[in-house]
Amino acid sequence: MRILATGGAGYVGSATVRSLISQGHQVTVYDNLSKGHRASVPAEILITGDIADADQLQQTLTEHQIEAVIHFAAFIAVGESTEHPNIYYQNNIANSLTLLEAMRRTGVQKLLFSSTAAVYAPIETGSLTEDSPKAPDSPYAFSKFAIERMIQDFSQAYGLGYTILRYFNACGADPQGRFGENHNPETHLIPLILQVPLGQRQNIGVFGQDYNTPDGTCIRDYVHVDDLADAHVRAIMAIEPGSSHTYNIGTGQGHSVLEVIQAAEQVVGQKIPHQFLPRRPGDTTRLVAQAQKLRKELAWNPKYTDLKDIIATAWQWHKNHPNGYDD
Ligand code: UDP
Repeated sequence: MRILATGGAGYVGSATVRSLISQGHQVTVYDNLSKGHRASVPAEILITGDIADADQLQQTLTEHQIEAVIHFAAFIAVGESTEHPNIYYQNNIANSLTLLEAMRRTGVQKLLFSSTAAVYAPIETGSLTEDSPKAPDSPYAFSKFAIERMIQDFSQAYGLGYTILRYFNACGADPQGRFGENHNPETHLIPLILQVPLGQRQNIGVFGQDYNTPDGTCIRDYVHVDDLADAHVRAIMAIEPGSSHTYNIGTGQGHSVLEVIQAAEQVVGQKIPHQFLPRRPGDTTRLVAQAQKLRKELAWNPKYTDLKDIIATAWQWHKNHPNGYDD
């Protein structure tokens, strides 16, 4: 299939692009490189472009005879979104509308969208199904929720076929250590923890110790980026014009922040000191997936089920690239 990946030079995007290419798909990456990395995708498939640019989008969709779009491009930091909601509403919501409109005008009928578990209403026990109540709290979460709704409305009105993937916590790296997570600034737990043994920080700050969880710290469902990528490859193949699906992508296992630190200590073989900090605005107590639907309908079967194995791949990447990608 001829596929356009917006934000395809990002962390999850580039992992998916590699999987798609290995399966024989013809992929074009469309990325403004504000967050993505040139070195994470083959140079010959990269178009440097912004999803705010309707003309360039339409031209790209037409010239490359795109059959399906995977829409990764977005700002993703919950905390930042509470400080700068304007850029989240502009880049995520307004620019996604520009993309949907470009697809409508050029007759591209298939869309796979990267959404988030942050759209769900808070829970304190158990796990989340796709039908669990929604109550996006942060501007980031709300922006993803709004895009989901726009996509559903475009589907109803114009016959767009879509699949929404709600990610839980993407983490880990290419097992050969060539590609991995590199955000600037880094806000994600596992890369920040690993900065301690790399000698780049003294300790890891833990946001909040008074959540209603066994050890008082937030619980998340950490899923390896290659398993996420595999879910995208399966999902894109299954989209038909007018079809509509939504899936959670997670392992179904929850780990507290302190458990993640302990697992990282075992992987790197040294103590990783932490200090407790106040809660981070926008964080929720518990995000754990029920991903049965994805397993059942798309035969998705995550390869990484042990958090230590996931962290080991991340450690390999960060050790080899302590300052991330070269660009
Ligand atoms: N977290 C933390 N310290 C950090 C970064 C994150 O305690 O320096 C916590 C955060 O509060 C959340 C979990 O780690 O409970 C995962 O956060 P991350 O930013 O990696 O992903 P998110 O869940 O926000 O998508």
